[in-house]
Amino acid sequence: MISFQDVHKFYGNLQVLNGVSFDVAKGEVVALIGRSGSGKSTALRCIDRLETISKGQITVCGHVVSDPKLQLRKLRQDVGIVFQSYNLFPHLTVEQNITLAPRWVKKMDRRKAKDLAVEVLTQVGLAEKLNSYPEQLSGGQQQRVAIARSLAMRPQVMLFDEVTSALDPELTGEVLKVIEELARSGMTMLLVTHEMAFAAGVANRIIFMHEGRVHEAGPSDILRSPSTPELRNFVGVGL
Ligand code: ADP
Ligand code: MG
Repeated sequence: MISFQDVHKFYGNLQVLNGVSFDVAKGEVVALIGRSGSGKSTALRCIDRLETISKGQITVCGHVVSDPKLQLRKLRQDVGIVFQSYNLFPHLTVEQNITLAPRWVKKMDRRKAKDLAVEVLTQVGLAEKLNSYPEQLSGGQQQRVAIARSLAMRPQVMLFDEVTSALDPELTGEVLKVIEELARSGMTMLLVTHEMAFAAGVANRIIFMHEGRVHEAGPSDILRSPSTPELRNFVGVGL
């Protein structure tokens, strides 16, 4: 579903991705971990073409991301991305936030879109918040709405970039639980997280990035017995 082949990315003279290659199969959950600045967010953003790569190739759900003829709208329907900041529209209700893209991008009628909103909100445990405004919700609830909003586009792949790191510790659990349930439902996911226990529990595979490269990768066992000093150092600090 996702394939990185020798991906390089520069910001000016700064090399951020330095020959990154990995694959994510259908239904697989892969956690991307690594120190701040190691290129995790950039890798994720390149998948959705929020950034363009300098060399190499990324394919996702059959789209060649660097193809100049690529239809961005199709790519972004297939790939849902959720960030640390929820970016909900404050002046719109939860329902309106969720139905905006289905109505305008997919031309869905109002009634169908509302049913869809109820469905995806039920998935994240917030069906009763349909008519609330973002400011009436906790941070954890807002993040769950952001996830529901992504799900409403029926993506084939979901990307998560440190979606709990802006939340108070007592609110992270409810968001992680939603992601776990998505994993159980068979959703293909690539997630950047610094919650090591969560990564170990939910991911089929861990990719440790270091200085713009995949430094170590494998099943979650690598967190318990790292083979490189860099990963050993990282989990030692992270746990
Ligand atoms: P991570 O998510 O692993 O913390 P990032 O992908 O955000 O790492 O950043 C990798 C490096 O790229 C960092 O050195 C960061 O400062 C730099 N960087 C990220 N975004 C930009 C940008 N838009 N312009 C210039 N440098 C950037
Ligand atoms: Mg980041």
